[in-house]
Amino acid sequence: MTERTTGGFTTRQVHVGTDAATATPRALPIHLTAGFTFDSFDAAAAHFGAGDGYGYTRTGNPTVDAVERKLASLEGGAEAVLLASGQAALAVALLGLVSAGSHIVSSTHIYEGTRGLLVDNLARLGIETTFVDDIHDPDAWRRAIRPETRVLLGESIANARNDVLDIAAVAAIGDAAGIPLIVDNTFATPYLLRPLEHGAAIVVHSASKFLAGQGAVLGGVIVDDGRFDASRSGHLFPHLVGSGAGTPSVWERYGGRARIAHLRESVAPRYGPTPSPLTAFLIGQGIETLSLRVQRQSENALAVAGWLADRPEVASVDYAGLASHPTHDLARTSLRGGYGSVFTVTLRGGLPAARAFVEAVSVITHMTHLGDVRSLVLHPATTSHARRSPAEHATLGIHPGTLRLSIGIEDLDDLLADLDQALAAAASAVRDDAAVLA
Ligand SMILES: *Cc1c(COP(=O)(O)O)cnc(C)c1O
Repeated sequence: MTERTTGGFTTRQVHVGTDAATATPRALPIHLTAGFTFDSFDAAAAHFGAGDGYGYTRTGNPTVDAVERKLASLEGGAEAVLLASGQAALAVALLGLVSAGSHIVSSTHIYEGTRGLLVDNLARLGIETTFVDDIHDPDAWRRAIRPETRVLLGESIANARNDVLDIAAVAAIGDAAGIPLIVDNTFATPYLLRPLEHGAAIVVHSASKFLAGQGAVLGGVIVDDGRFDASRSGHLFPHLVGSGAGTPSVWERYGGRARIAHLRESVAPRYGPTPSPLTAFLIGQGIETLSLRVQRQSENALAVAGWLADRPEVASVDYAGLASHPTHDLARTSLRGGYGSVFTVTLRGGLPAARAFVEAVSVITHMTHLGDVRSLVLHPATTSHARRSPAEHATLGIHPGTLRLSIGIEDLDDLLADLDQALAAAASAVRDDAAVLA
């Protein structure tokens, strides 16, 4: 199409200077556009018919596609769908598999937003969830499965106890019944662990965390292994294998990629949590340094966790990188290159100590986020998990003195100095409390 240079003021203000010269930028171009012009009458029909080319950003965008290819490659998957947030990734991944009357089996140790989605939003659609407390007991997963079960769900490394999921064991239980395992791999990142290599069928992430890495944007991603098998699982997912009058099924058109093709074609664009191409660009930029950041963050976290565990003010440190952790052996065999950088520390002085610690930190930032280049702290019992009962807190490993740390890339000495003075502040707050009570 040639550029229009004539016409009235208003015509020219919308038509002149809207395309860029053809050149090859080194950085990923940001196709910040609602849609794309069709090159011909037939191209439009081909787009709406066979899905050729680009039409509208909610159904496809070159910047978003590029980041999806990067993530599919790093997770070792067949295909990825990028979404507007991690919550959107979980919602879309689940809604692609379940229907009213379906049942989900989930680890108890999951992100609070995911739990809300299961126990509130999906429950209201007639989709029930059974939670497995002891995620290391294969029989507990097996017993929870019903004829209506359509998905198993867990997190590779779970807050707050930092338990590493035995993905191979849980995936095998699902496989025996034709049920896919979804693993939320936000805490491990594909650099440390690739769940699909251990038998998971689908990986989801909050890309807002380590993938973007600098806390500037929200995003989410779903990566599928592309190994949907209609002969084994087709009866569980009739919407993937059933063909309408004259229209071939998703399975007939996409084979093993049926699940993710269905998400791209019928779930994500209808519910509509489309990522901005600008967000996609920033996530792509972030991923270019993922391995370097996660290596450094993991090294810092291991040093910080070991240092904290030796301190008299500390009751316990739940970090899979420490030999004392119940899932350390599993972490050693399944994680490569580090143990991640998010974990919890529980102070002996309970709530007053935790409050004083949070109020004293200065290198570490007090906020609800994780996986950032900056170190962060949050007090789960009064924030993210404030609505849970004391019994639930106990199951989850959240005590009045528990703090969640997400260790960044800062110089280790500066982190230890900050922690040292924050622990001193915590200890003095506890002494003041004791003095008042005495
Ligand atoms: C943050 C997070 C989510 C939700 O992601 P958003 O991008 O905040 O929507 C889901 N799972 C885990 C493990 C998370 O940490």
